[in-house]
Amino acid sequence: MPPAFATPWPLVVAGGGAAGFMAAISAAEAGLKGVLLLEATPTPLAKVLISGGGRCNVTHACWDPRALVGHYPRGGRALLGPFSRFATAEAVEWFKAHGLELVEEADGRLFPRSNRSSAVVASLREAAQAAGVTLRTGAALQTAEALQPEGFELSLRASEGPTELRCCQLLLATGGHPSGRQIAARLGHTLVPPVPSLFTLALKPNPLQELAGVVMDPVRLQLELPGARFQQQGPVLVTHWGLSGPATLRLTAFAARALKEQGYRAQLRVDWSGGRSQQDLEVAFEGLRRDQARRQLSSWRPWPELSRRLWLHLLAVCGIEGTGRWAELRRPQQKALIDALRASRYAVGGRGPFGEEFVTAGGVSLGEVNLATMASRKLTGLYFAGELLDVDGITGGFNFQHCWSSGWLAGRALAASADLVEDGEHR
Ligand SMILES: Cc1cc2nc3c(=O)[nH]c(=O)nc-3n(C[C@H](O)[C@H](O)[C@H](O)COP(=O)(O)OP(=O)(O)OC[C@H]3O[C@@H](n4cnc5c(N)ncnc54)[C@H](O)[C@@H]3O)c2cc1C
Repeated sequence: MPPAFATPWPLVVAGGGAAGFMAAISAAEAGLKGVLLLEATPTPLAKVLISGGGRCNVTHACWDPRALVGHYPRGGRALLGPFSRFATAEAVEWFKAHGLELVEEADGRLFPRSNRSSAVVASLREAAQAAGVTLRTGAALQTAEALQPEGFELSLRASEGPTELRCCQLLLATGGHPSGRQIAARLGHTLVPPVPSLFTLALKPNPLQELAGVVMDPVRLQLELPGARFQQQGPVLVTHWGLSGPATLRLTAFAARALKEQGYRAQLRVDWSGGRSQQDLEVAFEGLRRDQARRQLSSWRPWPELSRRLWLHLLAVCGIEGTGRWAELRRPQQKALIDALRASRYAVGGRGPFGEEFVTAGGVSLGEVNLATMASRKLTGLYFAGELLDVDGITGGFNFQHCWSSGWLAGRALAASADLVEDGEHR
C-alpha cells in the first residue's frame, strides 16, 4: 500500500457494495493499477449477502434496454444510454466469466445457481483480488477536498492504517448512506432529497386485519393523491398492518415522492376481481343465482381463486348473511358485492414495515453526471455509481442491475481516463 501522500492512489473507490466492487474490478481489469477500495464497515458486500432473502436476486431477465428502463421510477429514460452498453445480457455474461452462473425463475428474476447470495459475494471478492484491487475494510471516507489542478485529498475514519490519502480519481459508491451524499454535496453536486422507496402500505383503520396472510393475484391497486394517481397490478399480500406483495411494492416505488409529500396519507382503490369487467361479474353472478341456487353464499365462491377468507369478509362488509342461498341474493346485494370486488376503498395512513427489498430514492442529480462514463460534470476525476445516484428500481433485481451497469461503465471510463495520465506521471 503506498504510504500516505507519498504516491497518490490512481483510483480510490469509496463504498464496498455491489456498485463499488463492480467499478473497482472493472477499472483494474481494464488495466488500471493501484485501485483502493474503501469500505466503512468490517464486512463488504453486506447488502448483497442479505439480499433476495439470502439468495440475491442479481438481475432480471429483461433483455431489451428500452423495456428495462421502464422498471426505474427514478432514472427511467436517462438510463437508456448506459443500459445500451451494459445491461442484463452483459451482467449475466460478466458473472459467467467470473465463475457465477445465473438461473432464471418463472417470474424472470435471476439468481445464482447455488441459490446462495454468498456465491455472489465470493465471486466479486475473488474477482477483485484477482484483478489486484486493494480492499481496506473498517475505513470510512470522511472528507474529500478537490486539489488543483486535479486529484483529491481524502481523510478517513479508520481503526488502523493511514487516515489521510491522496488520489488522482475518486469514485463515490456509498449507497444510501448519508456520508457519500454529504461528500458529493461539498464537492459541488446537487442532491435530490432522499426518500424511502419499496415499502408496504399501512391501512388506517385496517379493515383487512383478519385477512393477514391472504395472497391474491392479480389485484389492481389504484392510489389516489391530490393531483396524482398511481396504478399497479399483480400479486398482493394482506398483512397485519395493511398490504404488501410485489404490486404494493411497485406502487410505493412509483409513488414514493408523492406519498412522502402527503405524509403517507392517500386513498387506495383495490380491485380484487382478477381483472373481470363489471359485465363479466354480472353474467357470472346471474349464472350462480341460477345454477348454484340452493348453495349457501359462504360455501360457494364466485370463482375458485377468490380467497375464501376474502369472500367471507366482503359478504360481511356488504352486510350479507353467508348462510343465505345464492337464489336469495337480491339485486342491490349483488350490486354491492360486485362493487366491493371491483372497487373496495381503503384509507392509507402510513408506511408499513419495508418489503424484502428497500432502497433510497433520490441522490446525486443525474443532470450533473455524464451517464456514458458516470463522471461528474462538475469536477474532473470524480465519478459515481449505484444507489448514491438519483436512480432506483422496483423489486426483481433491477436495483442491482443498475449497480452492475453504472459500476462497470464507471470502472471502464476511469481506466481509460487514467491512461491519459501516462504511467509514473501520477501526482
Ligand atoms: C434487505 C434488502 C434486500 C435487497 N434485495 C435486493 C435484491 O435481491 N435485488 C436487487 O436488485 N436489489 C436488492 N436490494 C437493493 C440493493 O441491495 C441495493 O440497491 C444495492 O445494494 C445498492 O448497492 P450500492 O453498492 O450502491 O450500495 P450499498 O450496497 O449500500 O453499498 C455501499 C457500501 O458503502 C459503504 N459506505 C457507506 N459510506 C461509506 C463511506 N463514507 N466510506 C466507505 N464506505 C462507505 C457501506 O458500508 C456499504 O457497504 C435489497 C436491499 C435490501 C435492504
